[in-house]
Amino acid sequence: MPELPHIEIYRQHLDATSLKKTIEEVEVRDEDLLEGISPADFADRLEGDRFVGSRRHGKYLFARTGEGPWVLFHFGMSGFLSWFEDPEHETDYPKVLWHFEDDGVLIFDCVRKLGEVRLVEDADGWIDEKGLGPDALSEGFDRTAFREALSGRRGYLKTALMNQEIMAGIGNEFSDEILFQRKLHPKTKVKSLAKKELEAVHDTLTHVLETAIDTRMKADNFPSRFLFPRRDEGEECPRCGGEIRRIEVSGRGSYFCPECQGEEP
Ligand SMILES: [Zn+2]
Repeated sequence: MPELPHIEIYRQHLDATSLKKTIEEVEVRDEDLLEGISPADFADRLEGDRFVGSRRHGKYLFARTGEGPWVLFHFGMSGFLSWFEDPEHETDYPKVLWHFEDDGVLIFDCVRKLGEVRLVEDADGWIDEKGLGPDALSEGFDRTAFREALSGRRGYLKTALMNQEIMAGIGNEFSDEILFQRKLHPKTKVKSLAKKELEAVHDTLTHVLETAIDTRMKADNFPSRFLFPRRDEGEECPRCGGEIRRIEVSGRGSYFCPECQGEEP
């Protein structure tokens, strides 16, 4: 499932390929994906306009149009955004296509119907309404803000990291990576961590997410001591050679190394 690093990579891709070009045609192939607007109205609002900027908020991507509204992308379980020079290019499950004046095409592809595209007049207002916490890599969300957001929380650290109302952008895979890098068991409770340890988790979170963005999410590009490319039961721990195991934490399958991360606390 796409998490913050994927979204940032799509954002950079959109910026590099699709800004400041007139949108000549918008094709909606699956209207179930559009929320709150008909395909005809959606196309009407965008055709003749341009994308002029973008922003990320957690697992959401916003592309701003010259007229003001934002196109909001949510990638669901497996959505992605890709631009092609060849206007005839097709991906496997293209749902919405933007054809530009230079013949290029931007495609939102999503195999299942869990993704979403909509027009949003006010991005900040939408984020507030949705109850999302700060983007996990946003400037204001520093060590202190992170510690304060978690202080007094009951429950597992992993669950808190994935709680989009506390911070937006981290899901199951990257919460596992953060815990692996900090050598914390997936069932570590927030309460059990001292102030300094919580701040260290923030440093690791930043390092893990930024590293993942730099790899362009290609398994081969990850540093050798990252769990990500080996996150599967029975795989070899990239740090100690132990065996990666799976347990359920708040109903989510979590992968960890019992040698490095200890037994259940
Ligand atoms: Zn290990």
